[in-house]
Amino acid sequence: MTKRVQKKFSYLNAKSTVGKSALDVALEQLRITAKKINLDPDIHEMLKHAKRSLVVSIPIKLDNGEVKVFMGCRVQHNGARGPFKGGIRYHPDVTLDEVTALAMWMTWKCAVVNIPYGGAKGGVSCNPKEMSRAELERLTRRYTTALLDVMGPLQDVPAPDVYTDAQVMAWIMDTYSQFKGHKVPECVTGKPIILGGSEGRAEATGRGVFICGREAIKRLGMKIKGVEVAVQGFGNVGWNAARIAYDTGCKIIAVSDSRGGIHCKKGLNPYKVYEHKKKNGSVVTYKGCENITNEELLELECDVLVPAALENQIAKANAGNIKAKIVAEGANGPTTTEADRILYEKEVFSVPDILANAGGVTVSYYEWVQNLNREHWPLEEVNRKLENKMVKSFNDVYETAKKEQSDMRTAALMLGIGRVGKAIKTLGIWP
Ligand code: GLU
Repeated sequence: MTKRVQKKFSYLNAKSTVGKSALDVALEQLRITAKKINLDPDIHEMLKHAKRSLVVSIPIKLDNGEVKVFMGCRVQHNGARGPFKGGIRYHPDVTLDEVTALAMWMTWKCAVVNIPYGGAKGGVSCNPKEMSRAELERLTRRYTTALLDVMGPLQDVPAPDVYTDAQVMAWIMDTYSQFKGHKVPECVTGKPIILGGSEGRAEATGRGVFICGREAIKRLGMKIKGVEVAVQGFGNVGWNAARIAYDTGCKIIAVSDSRGGIHCKKGLNPYKVYEHKKKNGSVVTYKGCENITNEELLELECDVLVPAALENQIAKANAGNIKAKIVAEGANGPTTTEADRILYEKEVFSVPDILANAGGVTVSYYEWVQNLNREHWPLEEVNRKLENKMVKSFNDVYETAKKEQSDMRTAALMLGIGRVGKAIKTLGIWP
């Protein structure tokens, strides 16, 4: 975004979040935005805290007969705008603090794209790469039983996140339904299509990232054809964003996963890399490209950088070395508050997570609506609705940024937090 549009960049006044957690970043964003929109201090105070945080221990019999106990949690941040909504993450680094930040971002995200949900997130601290399918199924079912009292179609609706997928959602749906005595497909989204999942849900987050990147490219007066894209993370989000960009004529010059990255200046075929990763477990052994680290990928010469891995990837130490013109955040929280300021000074056009990756929860919403109405919409209809929703949301944020003379993240937070604040104010604080 140009200096003109970003003149009053509020992160200039940000307190340092170096070395701090995702929750520190989320709270700092809330503090800055609250000040900017003159949020009622009582509502600000409320929004600093999650409405409910449930921590559970999940004992599982491993395949070798041993019992291992995993930490799991579900955080429901704010439900003023509707049922709680948000994914479930399986990752060794899951902590309650991290999940709380992610739940808060879900609250803002649902408000930015204006879908009638509050924000939540769940997580289990485990390493799914070291677990068998049977162990993952037992973990998922046991975790679901621990959530039975707090989840439900009108209460809290989980979905996939890092290292969880449609199969995990199927187990959650089945476990919940077994306890209710009838099938309840609307209790979870991101299910397999055969069980009531929506067409287009699996690729929706990546498609949304692509749409936002494309809109940013247009705003900078660039042409989509031949645009050079580097993607950090080749999971569901990174892979689909890369694939759709490639199909549209972009040049994918680098991708990576947790083991490292590959760089190919002349461009690579993401379909071939995907097949390779499926067979060999990683992109790093793909032939014909130069091997790079995840850190090096972020600093590559390119037009669009898509961080689609984990939090805090672009921080104070490396933000100055980012060469991309556009950053489209596929991951949640990949940029720290200080890095935001540095990117601004470099005039990088950053499309924030709560807008760029909102395509996933948007199609989750469409899935839920279909389930509640016992309908199944064709792919074209889902994609058309998603396209309209993402373009409208992008424009809303862009126009807010212009009007407020702020960056895109500040604008998105202002819109999201503003809407949540208004909902709380209108409801009143009971009793
Ligand atoms: N985990 C995704 C996200 O962070 C999707 C959430 C959902 O569909 O509820 O937005």
